[in-house]
Amino acid sequence: MEAVPFIGVSRHRINIDGTGVTTLAAFHGCPLRCRYCLNPACFGKTDKLPHYTPQTLFNHVRIDNIYFLYTSGGICFGGGEPLLRTDFIREFRKLCGDAWKITAETSLAVPRSSVEAAAEVIDDFIVDIKDTNPAIYEAYTGRSNRGSLQNLRWLISAKGQEHVMVRVPLIPNYNTEADRDRSIALLLEMGVTQIDRFEYVIR
Ligand code: SF4
Repeated sequence: MEAVPFIGVSRHRINIDGTGVTTLAAFHGCPLRCRYCLNPACFGKTDKLPHYTPQTLFNHVRIDNIYFLYTSGGICFGGGEPLLRTDFIREFRKLCGDAWKITAETSLAVPRSSVEAAAEVIDDFIVDIKDTNPAIYEAYTGRSNRGSLQNLRWLISAKGQEHVMVRVPLIPNYNTEADRDRSIALLLEMGVTQIDRFEYVIR
């Protein structure tokens, strides 16, 4: 498999991207264009970014093997959108085995086939749902949220609610507390039990 670009690899993150000690590996590339994107490098040029194959990334991160094993941690794939790279993640799983936890931070704004392929090898999902209101979502990201919500329903039924955490932000100038409450009500109805409410900070 060819080496692919990453916007960064960050070690020793504790209980931020899932349980235990985690290394965040953030892919370049994302189908959304969020107005307050914190990672604009994921749309920029790739020539100066580090590139890894599954094997070279595994070689790079396995220095923390002992931390991962003792804390039930592992790798969190973020981005950008990691589910654009499910082939890479599936190869990586073969290399790291079952002992490491693999988490993905995703918007689920990808084809269902990618979510299905990811669900076979990823333990836990952190889903950035933005807002469930279609008009708010489209104004904020430039895309429809229809597919993301359908993918979320599928993911909950396939993985179980205990493996899916959904982040629901308050987005200045785009949604309100009342909008967020409506999103949370819909998510509860869909069977989501792990909900992280937070607020985007505009710099
Ligand atoms: S999903 Fe994340 S990486 Fe993609 S545009 Fe939105 S904030 Fe940026």
